[in-house]
Amino acid sequence: MSRVVVLGGAESGVGAAVLAKVKGFDVFLSDKGTIKEEYAAQLRKWDIPFEQGQHTEELILNADEVVKSPGIPGTVPMVQKLREKGIRVVSEIEFASRYDKAKKICITGSNGKTTTTSLIYFLLQNAGLNVGLGGNIGKSYAYQVATEHFDYYVLEISSFQLDDTYDFRPDIAIITNITPDHLDRYDHKMENYVAAKFKITQNLRSDDCFIFDSDDAITVGHLSKIVLRCKMLPFSQEKEVEQGAFLKNDKMVLRYDKEETDIFLQELALGGKHNIYNSMAAALAAKASGIENEVIRKSLATFQPIEHRLEPVLSIKDVLYINDSKATNVDSAWYALECQKRPVIWIVGGKDKGNDYSLLNDLVKEKVKGIVCLGVDNAKIHAAFGGMVSRMEDALSADEAVQKASKMAAAGDVVLLSPCCASFDLFKNYEDRGEQFKAAVRKL
Ligand code: ADP
Repeated sequence: MSRVVVLGGAESGVGAAVLAKVKGFDVFLSDKGTIKEEYAAQLRKWDIPFEQGQHTEELILNADEVVKSPGIPGTVPMVQKLREKGIRVVSEIEFASRYDKAKKICITGSNGKTTTTSLIYFLLQNAGLNVGLGGNIGKSYAYQVATEHFDYYVLEISSFQLDDTYDFRPDIAIITNITPDHLDRYDHKMENYVAAKFKITQNLRSDDCFIFDSDDAITVGHLSKIVLRCKMLPFSQEKEVEQGAFLKNDKMVLRYDKEETDIFLQELALGGKHNIYNSMAAALAAKASGIENEVIRKSLATFQPIEHRLEPVLSIKDVLYINDSKATNVDSAWYALECQKRPVIWIVGGKDKGNDYSLLNDLVKEKVKGIVCLGVDNAKIHAAFGGMVSRMEDALSADEAVQKASKMAAAGDVVLLSPCCASFDLFKNYEDRGEQFKAAVRKL
């Protein structure tokens, strides 16, 4: 019996281990850190041997194949050792796709992945298809392949998950956009990060589709260096495209297989320029899946905003509080500010990832009245925007930030939490930051 060792005992690792078990492999899971009780319980339930707090070489280096969780960088000593011994290391999605015949719509990119993935899932469900949602959202893909039978999967895929893929092939691949993020995992080289994202296209065949943002210079630049033989479906807000999606006056036009459909921008449920991009990408995936125009139109009009993404929380004394805690880089905060029509009190800050804030200067000057810095070290934010706004304060908790922001705000303003930064200095994760923000707003 061949032996599969899984490194990493969280959602994707445990999913891969369960699938390996179901497929009859001799499975072992090893995690150098602590495995959460819910995952340990699952491993016990499936009768999968595991260890935590260490990697025991004798139990790992005898693997025929290793499935590595995306959270583990390829540079850790154990992975290096495996490679030196010539043991194949693959990602969870690579492993799972071998056992899955469903059609796969896979979404990667720097920003907009979750929104676009959820929109497509909603569209396919509304069309009555038997569809699963996975990847970075909800249950892992591998776990679902082990325990469910779907005809379609909509998978949100990070560049880390693509790192160890070889034969993984989506039927429809989407790159929402590419802006600098996570460069620490890519030797601080943008080209490595771009190449990692483009791995999603590496096995596309002639009847597969690639959906991409043709306004994005980095994506288009990389496309000029490679050859793809699949159907190309660009989306653009700047120019008309031969096949794909573009804007005409106040409408979004979908041009696919010699047929044209248009949808009024006003009808779209999600506001903001970035969500026009996300809606275009989702609509093209739906067209390529044969979904009827009426279903596409209705779905885009009725989709509800997802938690922590420009999520309206409450309006208090005519001040609207918006939770955009998921905006963890400069580009996402740019779009959040860009779509605000009312004066903004902006709550920003956290763990800086080497941000270049100057990209936000024009928007801050135009829209932001006051800033509350929510982070342990706010020096970079003070330096970047100190001269641009009349009021600037610091806060060390969501409560303090919301209280200070509410004092700065006047009727008609918006208080926007769109932090531009990771959350780990003061919060467990972005969800925790968003929850605490919402709780603080409800206390006002
Ligand atoms: P991801 O899953 O890629 O992190 P999300 O859909 O969760 O993306 O959105 C994260 C944040 O990025 C949102 O809060 C929003 O402000 C911003 N955003 C969403 N879509 C886009 C886009 N297409 N381009 C730029 N920013 C976006």
